[in-house]
Amino acid sequence: MKKKVFIIVGLILSLSLIGGSLAYKAYKENKKLKEEKKTAQIIANTKKEYGFYLKNEIKENPTNKTEKLFNEVILESNKNNSIDFASFSKNNLVKDLNNANIEEIINTINLEEEKYPLNSLEEIASAQISNNSQSNDVNKTILSIYKKHKFIKNLEQEKQKRQEYLNNLNTLKEELTYFRNSQDYSVKDGIYLCKNEDIQNKLKDFSTKYNLNLNITLENTKIEIKDRGVPILCYHGILDEPWGQTNLFVKVADFDAQMQYLHDNGYTPIFASEIKTASNVSKPIIITFDDGYKDVYTNAFPILKKYNIKANIYMISGWIGGDVYMNEQDLKEMSQSPLIEVGSHTVSHKALATLDENQIETELKDSQKTLQEMTGKKIDVIAYPTGSFDERVVAIAQKYYKYGLSTIKGKENPLNLNTYSLRRIYVYRNYNLNTFKGLF
Ligand SMILES: [Zn+2]
Repeated sequence: MKKKVFIIVGLILSLSLIGGSLAYKAYKENKKLKEEKKTAQIIANTKKEYGFYLKNEIKENPTNKTEKLFNEVILESNKNNSIDFASFSKNNLVKDLNNANIEEIINTINLEEEKYPLNSLEEIASAQISNNSQSNDVNKTILSIYKKHKFIKNLEQEKQKRQEYLNNLNTLKEELTYFRNSQDYSVKDGIYLCKNEDIQNKLKDFSTKYNLNLNITLENTKIEIKDRGVPILCYHGILDEPWGQTNLFVKVADFDAQMQYLHDNGYTPIFASEIKTASNVSKPIIITFDDGYKDVYTNAFPILKKYNIKANIYMISGWIGGDVYMNEQDLKEMSQSPLIEVGSHTVSHKALATLDENQIETELKDSQKTLQEMTGKKIDVIAYPTGSFDERVVAIAQKYYKYGLSTIKGKENPLNLNTYSLRRIYVYRNYNLNTFKGLF
């Protein structure tokens, strides 16, 4: 009997034990589920709370360290968008490099350098996100949000970009400081007058590097040119058996002797379009041919090539071809040569000052268009037929051309050009070599 009772009691006890442990297990699982749900809710809330960050929105009145950090990342990332050294130099190197302007540019560089401190990126990179008052889940969530921002993802590249920008700024500052400390040049009316070739070369390199197109010249060249000017020689035909106005046709042997003289005596023949920088070369001279006669192609061109002399030919666009004038093929061949620059001599060689404005415009515009199509090159210079021009002609020439050639006698000072009435010196058939030498 007693044994039975024991067994029953034992059974009841063990059943209740099992039941109890099962109930406890269920209770625990329930609790865990609740916690998981709670955590999910916290994570969802956290994501929502810091959603502004991934939308790149600044949090007004940040209330904790994380919000402050997120704001900082957004500000830095927005700043990086404006990093562009090419446009910085383009916008800031527009002034002459005199001391006052250099000082101003250096100040701008200093301000720019302060805007992009590298150590702020270091701080961002090493930012620790942990807040003891918050659970691990929350901190982990915040950290994963933090890393999702584009700027943080590309932080290494952003750092490099900024480093490169700062390096470029620093180099520019060093270059400018060098020029500021130099006593070897001065700037007057946009012209850089250099005391020696060393500073001239440094300014030229700087001008090329930053695409500035500075007008740089040696001081003594300026004086030399001011005294002497640049001669622009005006030829027409180079022909032994002349026709028409015979004095306009120089004999072939005479022309050869004249070109040899220029060659042997250190003259630098340049294109008319290069006259502004004539002071950069020694003994500049400009050779021009009006009308585009066939004999310029057959007789003058070989001599120009023989002495490596640059020349300019002014074509009457409506008179190309035939026996007297160059044809399109001749013109194309000459325009391909590095020794020849083609310019316009209008469409039909009328005295421009006698025309109305519409006619003038047609003569200037249409001839340019035709010649540009034939040569594939920009036509920037016009020679006024018979030297006829007035204010209206100049006003219209300014619309289409960079320079206008007159027949007013004289030389041109490249530092003070008569841009649309460049003076010239005629070379006539009856000049001997001594007369020629005395012309300029
Ligand atoms: Zn002419």
